[in-house]
Amino acid sequence: MDIKKLMVTHPPVGEMAAYKEIYWINPNLGKAKEVSFTMADIDDAEDRLARFAPYIACAFPETAPEGGIIESTLTEIPHMKAALAENRGEIDGRLFLKCDSHLPVSGSIKARGGIYEVLKFAEKVAMDAGMLTEQDDYSILTQPEFLNLFSQYSVAVGSTGNLGLSIGIISAKLGFQVTVHMSSDARQWKKDLLRSKGVTVIEYPDDYQKAVAEGRKEAASNPRCHFVDDENSADLFLGYAVAAKRLGAQLAKNQIIVDDSHPLFVYIPCGVGGAPGGVAFGLKLLYGHNVHIFFAEPTHAPCMTLSMITGLRNKIAVSDIGLDGKTDADGLAVGRASGLVSGIMETLLSGCYTIQDEGLYPLLASLADRENIYIEPSSCASFIGPSLVCRDENWLKQQGLMNKMQHASHILWATGGKMVPEKEMHSYYLRGKNKKRG
Ligand SMILES: *Cc1c(COP(=O)(O)O)cnc(C)c1O
Repeated sequence: MDIKKLMVTHPPVGEMAAYKEIYWINPNLGKAKEVSFTMADIDDAEDRLARFAPYIACAFPETAPEGGIIESTLTEIPHMKAALAENRGEIDGRLFLKCDSHLPVSGSIKARGGIYEVLKFAEKVAMDAGMLTEQDDYSILTQPEFLNLFSQYSVAVGSTGNLGLSIGIISAKLGFQVTVHMSSDARQWKKDLLRSKGVTVIEYPDDYQKAVAEGRKEAASNPRCHFVDDENSADLFLGYAVAAKRLGAQLAKNQIIVDDSHPLFVYIPCGVGGAPGGVAFGLKLLYGHNVHIFFAEPTHAPCMTLSMITGLRNKIAVSDIGLDGKTDADGLAVGRASGLVSGIMETLLSGCYTIQDEGLYPLLASLADRENIYIEPSSCASFIGPSLVCRDENWLKQQGLMNKMQHASHILWATGGKMVPEKEMHSYYLRGKNKKRG
């Protein structure tokens, strides 16, 4: 690949290669394009999650009050809005936090797609064995004959941490044998927690891509093993996409309008792309040109930004432009974007931006001080987005948004945090307090 030439044809690539923060607007937004999924696929995933709700309520009693539906709150954060305005620039409209950081069962956005994919596999195994029909009350899946059935099958996944947690927890609960292939940068407490649940954790000195490749290899040699493919999985993608319909219902319930004169802006941290891509895809189906989606990434691993800017999908990796891919932002330490998702996002994404690791901690501390909400550093990557967008008069004019911004709603998608041990969270917080900018 001729990287020098790429830097000339796409100047932001040069800045990215120097670990600089960038903000990029997608020139291909809204162009016509065939996408292989429809709302019917999302409805199917939503129905499946509803069938499993009685099982989830039974297996994870913390979800019983919500009837076994794994969902998070949408919280307005006016004090954080004020802090961001002081430090990063004014934000027009209202600011909300979507608290997937506190999703039940595994405390990250992976509790959507990751759990969905394993449930779908379990349903197929049980139905193929003639032990389950769609009309059954799925809480029967907690019974010993199902544990026994599932123990003859295995699940494997490669992960930087949070996906491994979700897949490990739900698979072990159902009774599957489960192996999580972890990259070495994954946090120790995540490995310890998984091992305590009977999950086999294999560590790799190399990065996430290597962990995924090993998982894929193990699964290929075993017909009873289901491999959760974070780089290509349609099931993961659709599990995440259900979030859009749920958010739509929350917005309606709270009388937050999204229409031609009330634009919605959604900012989501991106790793390989499945989680933010699924959410974005669902939201675009629901709200079309009235929703504007931005992805946020760390300066050391901006794989989706690089993929979008160059149009090279998964044919380019951050190492190709000399970046080391090392970041404190768990879940975002990914060198190469998903081919499936980068293709879908080409005409749906409004833009991307990047943030330095050191910028994450003051944002984390600010959210804790102003709103008493604690989330993990990677979840804060999106926070600079609303100020960047509100400052971008050229783009707002071009989109016809200038006189609509006082009616705008901005949603920062908090993607993880609840499972972080208190001591660890406190050290993140102190690190943020010792920095000035918030
Ligand atoms: C996984 C993850 C993301 C991004 O999801 P991808 O599907 O990898 O793009 C963002 N934040 C956190 C905390 C995550 O664990």
